[in-house]
Order: sequence, then C-alpha cells, then structure tokens
Amino acid sequence: METSSQCSRCLYDTSHPLGLEINEKGICSGCLIHEEKDYLDWDQRWNDLLDLVKDYKCKQKVKYDCIVPVSGANDSYFILHIVKNKLNLNPLVVTYNKYFNTPIGIKNLANLRTKFDVDVLIQNINPTIVKKITKTTLFELGSMYWPCIAGQTVFPVQTSIRYNIPLIIWGAHQGLEQVGMFSHLHNVEMTRRYRKDHDLMGMEADDMLNTFNTLSEEDMCQYRYPSDSDLRKAGTRGIYLGNYIRWDPKAQHEKMIKLYGYESASFNRTFETYDHIDCYNYLNIHDYLKYLKTGFSKVTDHACREIRHGRLTKPQAKSLVSYYENRNIQNQNLFYDWLGVDENSFNFILRKIAEENNRDPNNIEISHRKKNKSVSNNLMKLDYKINSSINRDKKTQYITIGKGYP
Ligand SMILES: [Zn+2]
Repeated sequence: METSSQCSRCLYDTSHPLGLEINEKGICSGCLIHEEKDYLDWDQRWNDLLDLVKDYKCKQKVKYDCIVPVSGANDSYFILHIVKNKLNLNPLVVTYNKYFNTPIGIKNLANLRTKFDVDVLIQNINPTIVKKITKTTLFELGSMYWPCIAGQTVFPVQTSIRYNIPLIIWGAHQGLEQVGMFSHLHNVEMTRRYRKDHDLMGMEADDMLNTFNTLSEEDMCQYRYPSDSDLRKAGTRGIYLGNYIRWDPKAQHEKMIKLYGYESASFNRTFETYDHIDCYNYLNIHDYLKYLKTGFSKVTDHACREIRHGRLTKPQAKSLVSYYENRNIQNQNLFYDWLGVDENSFNFILRKIAEENNRDPNNIEISHRKKNKSVSNNLMKLDYKINSSINRDKKTQYITIGKGYP
C-alpha cells in the first residue's frame, strides 16, 4: 500500500480525498497553484476577462447577460460585486434551495437581492424526493450533501438552456484554495466532466440510478446535467472568476461586510466565520462525516488556506486544527427530524461509515474543549469578523422556504 506523505508547507497529504500531488521539493499542488498568484500578471488577466465578457453583453437592456449562482454565503456577494459593479453585466441570479437554511443565510440572500438590485430565481425541488436521495447517498456513500452539491452545480446550467443565457459566472473552482491540480493558466471552465470528477465524487445522477435501486428516473431528473446537444445549442459556458482575479476569500468577505453588510457567524468546528454560514449542516454533520471518511475536516482546509495566504504558520495551523476537529457537532436533531430518522439509526450509519474507513466513531468530544492560549492568540491574529449569529435570535430551525427579510 502506498504511504501518504505530507506537504512541507501546508497540512495536506497525498491521502487528501480530492487528490493532490507532491513535487520533488515536497510541496503540494495546492501550495504551488497558490504561489502562481505572486507572479501572474493580474492586470492582464483582468483585461482577458473584460474581453471575454464583451461578447456576452446583450445589446437590449431587458435581457440578461449572464447567470450567477449564489447562496446566502460563500463568495456570492463578491461574485456579484464583480459581475454587476465591475464588469457592468446584468445577471440572472440563481440559487438552489438545499432546505438546511439558517436565518443568517436567508438574511444574506434577501440583502443580496436588494443591495445588488437583481432578479433571483430559486429552485425548490420536491422535498420528498430530496429526502429520498439524501437517505440513499447518506447510507451508500456516507454523504448527506450529494443532492445539495448536485443541485447547486446543475441548476445554473439547466437555467442557461431554459433561458438561453450562455455565460455562467462562478467564483473559484474547488481546486483553487484547496488541492490545486489546475494552473491558473489552464483557465479551467465548468464542464460536465469537471462537475462529476471534482464536485460530485465521481457520481452523476445517472450513475446513482444505475447503482442504487432505491431511486427512480423521476427522482433524479432535476439533478441531470443537460445533454451535449442542448449545451452546444445554447452555447453554455461556465467560467471561474478565480482564474482572472487574485483570489483571497478572507479579504474578499471582509470587503463585502464593509460594502454591503454581509453577515458572518461563528461555528463550533472551525475558526472560519464567512464561508458556510447559510447551512446548519455543512460545518456540523457533513463535516463530521467528511472527517470519518477521510480524516480531514473543514478546519484543515481553512488552516491550509491561511498558511498559504501567510496569515498562519504551520505550527499555528496545526494547533487550530487539533483544537477544532474534535469539537462536537451541533443541530443534528434538526437533521434527524427533517430526514425522518431517529438518533439511533443515524448513529448506526455513523458507525458503519467509521468502520468502513477504519476510524473510531466514538472519539468525538461532547464537552466544550477549553481554548488554550495558543489557540486564542492565533484566533486573535487571524481576526475573522463575527457581526451576527446563525440564528439571528430566531428559533433554531431550518427555513425551508425563505421569504426574505422585510
Ligand atoms: Zn501544501
């Protein structure tokens, strides 16, 4: 069996689930791609972007120039800031409802619609079907998030065809702040293949149908990637802004807080307060499942990112990871209720996943760990802003359909 080796700069090793390479100097592909940011000509790349979008700008003001996929978190504000206010495009904003919405996520989405003055198209798939698929992927793949990722990556592409809007503008592709593997110079674009390999763990809707007999054609149709001929006819093309703009999620979010009042909140299992705050599960159950399956939790991704941006040293990053990755998950009861399972059956699934991956499912700490001095100092140094909370003083419950805030 191949042994894994760790990157000499960050905390990733070759067992990373997304796949990475380590060069002869011991540096991983993620760190190498990050290094490109220092020597690329970003003015030139911005001009390339201006050239690229020129062809998609519609002459009539009444038509949309592009599609921008958003949520109540992640890089949504920054992408719209660039698309609307820097590129002067008229976007149709689309969002896939993953049903695990936090009040802060709905607030951010409502505020985005007003601040950027855009039309937002929301896709609400029949919850009975979403639950059925979630049960299958959870039990068979150890993933409760497959429908969320599949939905949010396919709905914009389906919309491109339905509305005949060829250009889709995404933020950063998954490799950019994580495992690299694609140079900025590749100008990688979103394709069926990229989505399947990098977003969906190699499982497209049709693969699920063929593999698991619990699902039907009818269940999966909303998650199907459009056909090649439809894509060609519409001229659909998905570009990533991270290839054209020097990407720094922390700095970008902080700018969005100042400019547009983006709200941020703290979580139990990472120090990052900007990225996944729209979801009750991503940094809780989903993160714990990721940890059981791969040995990595999200805090490792965040810590590696901060090392590369020069805001943490490797030992500081390590101390943060060991503090956060063993902290307890929260709000799991909401998920049991939503899915219609009890805690015992869920724990059975956890044990199954842990055993399949040679891990101990009982090693999670229930009590709050005390922050030691080094963890507190590192958090102070990083200075992630927290200007709100995920519940915003409302009831702790999924907002399955967000009507927005008045
Ligand atoms: Zn590295």
